Amino acid sequence: MYDFVVVGVGPAGARFARRAAESGFDVLALEKGTVGTPLACSGHVSTDIWNYVPETAKDELFQNRIYGANFYTGGPDTDSHLFYKTEEISNVIDRVELDRTLADCARRAGADVREGHTVTGIEEHPDHVTVTVSVAGERGTDTVDARMVAGCDGPISRVRQAVDLPEPAEKLHGVLAFTDEIDHTDHVDVHLTVPEFFAWRIPRGEAGVEYGLAAPPGGDVNDRFEQLTESYGVETDRFCSGAIPIGPPDRVTTDRVFLIGDAAAQTKPFTGGGILYGMTAADCAARHIDPDRPGSLEIYESAWRQTLSSEIRMGHLIRRAYSLPESVQRVGLGALAGEIGVHMDKPSSFFSKTHLKRLFS
Ligand SMILES: Cc1cc2nc3c(=O)[nH]c(=O)nc-3n(C[C@H](O)[C@H](O)[C@H](O)COP(=O)(O)OP(=O)(O)OC[C@H]3O[C@@H](n4cnc5c(N)ncnc54)[C@H](O)[C@@H]3O)c2cc1C
Repeated sequence: MYDFVVVGVGPAGARFARRAAESGFDVLALEKGTVGTPLACSGHVSTDIWNYVPETAKDELFQNRIYGANFYTGGPDTDSHLFYKTEEISNVIDRVELDRTLADCARRAGADVREGHTVTGIEEHPDHVTVTVSVAGERGTDTVDARMVAGCDGPISRVRQAVDLPEPAEKLHGVLAFTDEIDHTDHVDVHLTVPEFFAWRIPRGEAGVEYGLAAPPGGDVNDRFEQLTESYGVETDRFCSGAIPIGPPDRVTTDRVFLIGDAAAQTKPFTGGGILYGMTAADCAARHIDPDRPGSLEIYESAWRQTLSSEIRMGHLIRRAYSLPESVQRVGLGALAGEIGVHMDKPSSFFSKTHLKRLFS
């Protein structure tokens, strides 16, 4: 009987597995494929990311530093508005390597991390949970028992479905691809040309340039992606596609199962970013959940919401601006552009003294 079985070894699962193992719990973490693959993420994160990986990993992960964003209401040949800081706002990192690094941290902490293990069923009992697992290259299925199960299996969570927890409010469809242009410039481009979201260009240093966008499903995502790359006059390769859950459901816990990360839609509504929110929630889970006390799941449920809910609410408000008429967007961008004092993961910092001082100076 394990204390925890963790389903999915992305950032949320690896972080929880590491923290729970460090607390002395017996942890089995199951990843259906190979950790870090397939890629479906820009790896554009605030510099807080460096608090979650060993100092020695930075050289391997780091690709470029970002000081600002150029906002366009049209394509790259239209006027833009630059929002910037004088210190780094964010970094672009190798997302595949990030997942490998976090999984290695979990292993070193004592978690048993197994790749090629797909969880196909979850059955909750009063005093334990039975997890059914299919192992790559083997016939049939195995079962393992745990006092509790952490569903960290991403936006299309099988765990969420198996225990009948509610779905996120929406799931956007995100796509991205790369060129080999070497670009060390220090700002991203954001185009408010996509319904309810945006398209982007991210310079990744020696690792090339990334073009991408996200939109509600059925929003002609692939056609719009072609229009984006045509407007830049580039041809891309290594096309990736994934779902971005927005809007956490009202519950992410049952009696012995809990969700973390994209499975719980712990993402920023105005960027779709979920790496740092997922790991923040993983730390909340590891701090509060005791596998021998099912009641501790209630504490996790309220603790992660206390930490992230007001930022998520602010994020929803910011996202509404993406759907304003273009003329209003242009006036708003013109009025707010310039030096900012906002933390990328904390939209509430828009109202911080630092930001307001910069805004009105
Ligand atoms: C196009 C796009 C761009 C993005 N860009 C950014 C960005 O720049 N910055 C940012 O912060 N976020 C970004 N995101 C979001 C980010 O990728 C997610 O928020 C993050 O990966 C969530 O981590 P997670 O661990 O919750 O889930 P995931 O990273 O999805 O990990 C879940 C893991 O579970 C495994 N799994 C699934 N089902 C099973 C099963 N049945 N059994 C075993 N294992 C299973 C999967 O293989 C996967 O490894 C982007 C997303 C998309 C789609």
